Amino acid sequence: CGIVGIVGRDAVAGQVIEALRRLEYRGYDSAGIATLEHGRLERRRAEGKLANLQLKLIQAPLAGAIGIGHTRWATHGKPNETNAHPHATDRLAVVHNGIIENFRELKRELQAHGIAFETETDTEVVAQAVSHAMAQGLGPVEAVAATLPKLRGAFALGFLFAGRDDLLIGARHGAPLAIGYGEGETYLGSDALALAPFTDEITYLEEGDWAILTREGAEIRDVAGRPVERPRQKIAAQA
Ligand code: GLU
Repeated sequence: CGIVGIVGRDAVAGQVIEALRRLEYRGYDSAGIATLEHGRLERRRAEGKLANLQLKLIQAPLAGAIGIGHTRWATHGKPNETNAHPHATDRLAVVHNGIIENFRELKRELQAHGIAFETETDTEVVAQAVSHAMAQGLGPVEAVAATLPKLRGAFALGFLFAGRDDLLIGARHGAPLAIGYGEGETYLGSDALALAPFTDEITYLEEGDWAILTREGAEIRDVAGRPVERPRQKIAAQA
């Protein structure tokens, strides 16, 4: 129900939690975070409130300088730790708001390729589909570009890739997503409010847009994959 992504300079877990706190008002049943540690994906997820996730982070901290986070309002699959986002393969992790309507179909296709699923969620098909495209030789950007047109429904997505500590990808299709610009840091949020502690420079993605984020900024593409310019706006500063 809430998405956050940060490609930052120092450990981002604390900032991800802070941003997720600002999305709590939307309601959620579980939460999770993934970062890269020496290029490897690491996740912490917990049922219930963000405090439960924070407890896990105290017991087993995450030091990565790039990460994604999520608060989930379950639509497909029980609200438990296994079904909590981020969903991941050994290549990538993804957070998702909304519903992938055709997930059963996509899941059957991927299973026919011998891919095993770990969760009951609609979201996991996105992780497995992009991962499958990468297994066939596509890079992260190409794999996301190949997968997005296959997804039906209303959704926003945020991706993090193993071994790529300067790359986040966000996609908007029927659910809002904003990019925030900082000093050598770039942010993704389902709500500009979530990014308010870090920046007042925001670009709202338009319907069908997806974006490639690095520490230097963001390259936005439209639904056809063409690079597009979207306006930067100043949002009111918030403590
Ligand atoms: N449909 C996804 C799930 O049930 C995402 C729900 C959400 O927007 O939080 O896991």
